[in-house]
Amino acid sequence: MERIRNFSIIAHVDHGKSTLADRLLEYTGAVSRRELKEQMLDTLEIERERGITIKLQAVRMEHKGYLLHLIDTPGHVDFSYEVSRALAACEGAILLVDATQGIEAQTVANFWKAVEQDLVIIPVINKIDLPAADPERVRKQIEEILGLDGDDVILASAKEGIGIEEILNAIIERIPPPKGDPKAPLKALIFDSYYDPYRGAVAFVRVFDGEVKPGTKIKLFSTGKEFEVTEVGAQTPKMTKFEKLSAGEVGYIAASIKDVRDIRVGDTITDAKRPADSPVPGFRPAKPMVFAGLYPSEGYTFEELRDALEKYAINDAAIYYEPETSPALGMGFRVGFLGLLHMEIVQERLEREYGVGLITTAPSVVYRVRFKNGTVKEIKNPSELPENWGLIEAIEEPFVNVTIITPKEYVGSIMNLCQEKRGIQKGFKYLDPNTVMLEYEMPLSEILLDFHDKIKSLSRGYASYDYEFIGYKEEDLVRLNVFINNEPVDALSFIVHRDKAYRRARQLVEKLKDTIPRQLFEVKVQAGIGNKIIASERIPPLRANVTAKCYGGDVTRKKKLLEKQKEGKKRLKQFGKVELPQEAFLSVLKVD
Ligand code: GDP
Ligand code: MG
Repeated sequence: MERIRNFSIIAHVDHGKSTLADRLLEYTGAVSRRELKEQMLDTLEIERERGITIKLQAVRMEHKGYLLHLIDTPGHVDFSYEVSRALAACEGAILLVDATQGIEAQTVANFWKAVEQDLVIIPVINKIDLPAADPERVRKQIEEILGLDGDDVILASAKEGIGIEEILNAIIERIPPPKGDPKAPLKALIFDSYYDPYRGAVAFVRVFDGEVKPGTKIKLFSTGKEFEVTEVGAQTPKMTKFEKLSAGEVGYIAASIKDVRDIRVGDTITDAKRPADSPVPGFRPAKPMVFAGLYPSEGYTFEELRDALEKYAINDAAIYYEPETSPALGMGFRVGFLGLLHMEIVQERLEREYGVGLITTAPSVVYRVRFKNGTVKEIKNPSELPENWGLIEAIEEPFVNVTIITPKEYVGSIMNLCQEKRGIQKGFKYLDPNTVMLEYEMPLSEILLDFHDKIKSLSRGYASYDYEFIGYKEEDLVRLNVFINNEPVDALSFIVHRDKAYRRARQLVEKLKDTIPRQLFEVKVQAGIGNKIIASERIPPLRANVTAKCYGGDVTRKKKLLEKQKEGKKRLKQFGKVELPQEAFLSVLKVD
């Protein structure tokens, strides 16, 4: 164990984490440049395209006779629990900061997560090769904002291969070896999992005590489920079998497990015959924060969607789903996600890899309704909010703590934005003469809306933010109902703060007017609180002037239009009502 080091790289997105990881692998000879490319090809298509790390990986390499385990962490706020579990598997972390950008929101958020785990932190300033690099400014920020010693900073360029040897030496010299008792009962923390068609669900673990090998009967602490180990090993970076994994080591365990939901991130694996007294602390089941309805689009069936979801869920323990029926959309599922990025990933993969077309309703947070009779109900779908408001004591919504780091010239407009979004200011601090850190408490629903786009456009891309869930708070909320030709469309209803109801209702009906294609009859689009209409628009019928415009001159155009009308008729017959395109369901999110 003296010769093992377990570490992560933590950084704000784009500061060079993946590049540095590649460089470390290359330097230690774990992979050649050619293999690196092939290695990349193995990772998920979407992950590669988006340039973000979704799945954690743990790679073993060797340097000067030491075994180094690099545990990767996902770079998005949706996966912050996974980050904390990955850090719990380490004794140290490399904190990477871009020499041209300085400290950003995720730098600070990840730094605190590492401090919570008592990790030794090695500060590294990356991209010193760039002309705009200002390492001395960043060194000062590291001293003043994070309270680290500026003399410990390593200057590096992952791209040019500068500082790599120094980083590897610092890992060996500064990070302590793992502690643990190889003779004690097995205690292994799961920090990641994935589904492998050959091995079944595979758990990535850090072994704290004891050892595990093929044939070991293992037991999961949270569920008591038991499995027999078929294979253990580590990524070097290829999946490589070992005889065993012992205290201090990082690697994978396969045990013919059919479903990744049996090996939850944060859970502890122990020996079924000789179990440990207690698990590694900190386990909590995945908690979906955002829910949306997923329905088969035209040409796909409910059964096809169900099969796709079931297959997909084997891969993703964080997703939650249950069947639901919408009067407007028919049979589908209410699906829970960790956040908006997670939702986008699931949608894309269902369509691309599992071949099912989707209509997705606007995502919504989970509201909590306290009834006068003392019961509490969690609302995953705005349409579940009871009509009878007399029974309701209060409605609560999830709040997050948002940290924003921005150049000082954008502070004013960002503060306005936060106020508009019902934010309560909690902090204002100059990080250096040009950079301000703001802290707000804000409803998560306001972040879902368009916070990301707004903050990026207000700051020309220079501000960054991060947030964490802090709890539920009572707010004055109402449900906006949407009616199309006087019929309520449940799938378009949403919950909103009373003060914003009028504005949102107006924006929504205008957006719907733009997205719903004109029909042969007039379409009335209305929004109301309960049955009280507060905004209304009319989509004029198509027929009235559709041929009139052609002046009888252009025959083919006239024909086409008439054909279109016929087609329209067919569809109307089929559905008996207005056809709503996917865009319409997301217009709830499109506000100005
Ligand atoms: P990650 O999001 O932290 O994983 O960042 P990446 O490793 O994907 O790097 C983001 C971008 O910065 C890529 O275009 C890299 O090529 C570039 N990059 C990373 N390290 C360096 C560096 O040391 N110098 C320069 N000039 N560019 C770098
Ligand atoms: Mg990356």
